Amino acid sequence: LEAKEEFSHKTRAMDVMRPRKNDPPLTVITQDSMTVEDVETIVTNTTYSGYPVVVSRASQRLVGFVLRRDLIISIENARKKQDGIVSTSIICFTDYCPPLPPSSPSVLKLRSILDLSPFTVTDETPMEIVVDIFRKLGLRQCLVTHNGKLLGIITKKDVLKHIAQMANQDPESILFN
Ligand code: ADP
Repeated sequence: LEAKEEFSHKTRAMDVMRPRKNDPPLTVITQDSMTVEDVETIVTNTTYSGYPVVVSRASQRLVGFVLRRDLIISIENARKKQDGIVSTSIICFTDYCPPLPPSSPSVLKLRSILDLSPFTVTDETPMEIVVDIFRKLGLRQCLVTHNGKLLGIITKKDVLKHIAQMANQDPESILFN
């Protein structure tokens, strides 16, 4: 019993977050350099409920979080109703979208669907605290950072699985909230 308690004490956000070691990297969207087609490919090839938006892949600086369903609806609408939105249109989540050469297609501005302050914890945060935050704030997901750089994501289901593992129980049997 003591060993188990000690283990649960020492589990940190980095131990529960995705991606795990050897997993492919987190699927992110960049704030102003992906095309409509790039984002449609991501949405088609993955089933995640949402995607962190970062300044650039190289920087991994977090800008916000965008829900999959909002992306799908906004792109679909823009393609139907907004003049000049095509596969090669750049999607821009920033306040100010840099001007492009006159020959380039219209920019699709999606700042309005971006959650600008997604909840974040550092990778060292004890899972006890993360679980508490999920419960108290009713979070669906939380992003994990290290020195201000985006490292991973923990969803409500990840937290439930973690709790179940700790308690050695079936996740279905645990009441959340
Ligand atoms: P759920 O955990 O409810 O199934 P998701 O479908 O969003 O929700 O996530 C499935 C798994 O993928 C989770 O373990 C989560 O940590 C991870 N995940 C969520 N979003 C991303 C992402 N953008 N990139 C990589 N992994 C992700």
